[in-house]
Amino acid sequence: MLAIKSFVFSPVQENTYVLSGQKDACWIIDPGCYFGNERNTLREYIEEQGLKPERLLNTHCHLDHVFGNKFVHDTWDLPLHLHEKEKPLLAAAPEYGQVWGLPFENYRGELIFIREGEVLTWGAGGDPAGALTGEALKVLFLPGHSPGSVGFYCEAQGFIIGGDVLFRESIGRTDLPGGDHETLLRSIREQLWPLPDDTIVYPGHGEPTTIGWEKLHNPFLRR
Ligand SMILES: [Zn+2]
Ligand SMILES: [Zn+2]
Repeated sequence: MLAIKSFVFSPVQENTYVLSGQKDACWIIDPGCYFGNERNTLREYIEEQGLKPERLLNTHCHLDHVFGNKFVHDTWDLPLHLHEKEKPLLAAAPEYGQVWGLPFENYRGELIFIREGEVLTWGAGGDPAGALTGEALKVLFLPGHSPGSVGFYCEAQGFIIGGDVLFRESIGRTDLPGGDHETLLRSIREQLWPLPDDTIVYPGHGEPTTIGWEKLHNPFLRR
C-alpha cells in the first residue's frame, strides 16, 4: 500500500509528492521546494517518518517542478528520472527562473529517461515484488502542456500523479514553449478518460480531483 504525502512549495504554489511503499522506500516527485525552510520541511518529513528516498522523478521540467531537484540529489544521492523530451526544458529552466525573479541552481547529474508504458516498481532497482503487491507506477505519456509530460498511474490504488495536465475544473496552460492545446486535449481524452471514473488525480497545482468529476465538470473538455 502506497502512502501519499503532498506539500505546497514555492511562490508558484506547486505540489510536491512523496510516495512511500515497501520497506519505507519513498519516491520524490516534482520537488518544488525553493526556499531553505521548504527544503527543511521535506527533509524533516522524510527523516521523521524513517523513509528511505529511492527515486527522484519529474512529471515535466517547468521550473516550479524542478526547483528542488538538486537539493534532493545532493541530500540523498538520487539521479533524476524524466521523459527524454523534457531535457531541453530542464536545461532552460534556470533562464526562466531569472525572468520570473526566481533564480535557482539546476540539477546537473545523471538523467534517467522513462518511457511511455514503462512500469516502475518499488524496491531498490525495481523489485518485481512491487508489481505483485500493486506498489508500482505506470508511465502515461501526456504531452501538450509540455512535450514530454508524463503521469504516474497506480492502477491498484486508483490514483495518478498527473503533473500540470489536468486540474480540478481546469487544464494546464499551453502558451509556454513546446505547449500545444489540441495535443493536451488529446492526451486527456485518449490517456486519462479511459481510466476508471473514481481514479484520483493528484495535480501539480491545487486540490486533487477525480476522472469522473472532470468528465462532468471540466469546462475545457465539454464537447
Ligand atoms: Zn508546468
Ligand atoms: Zn507547474
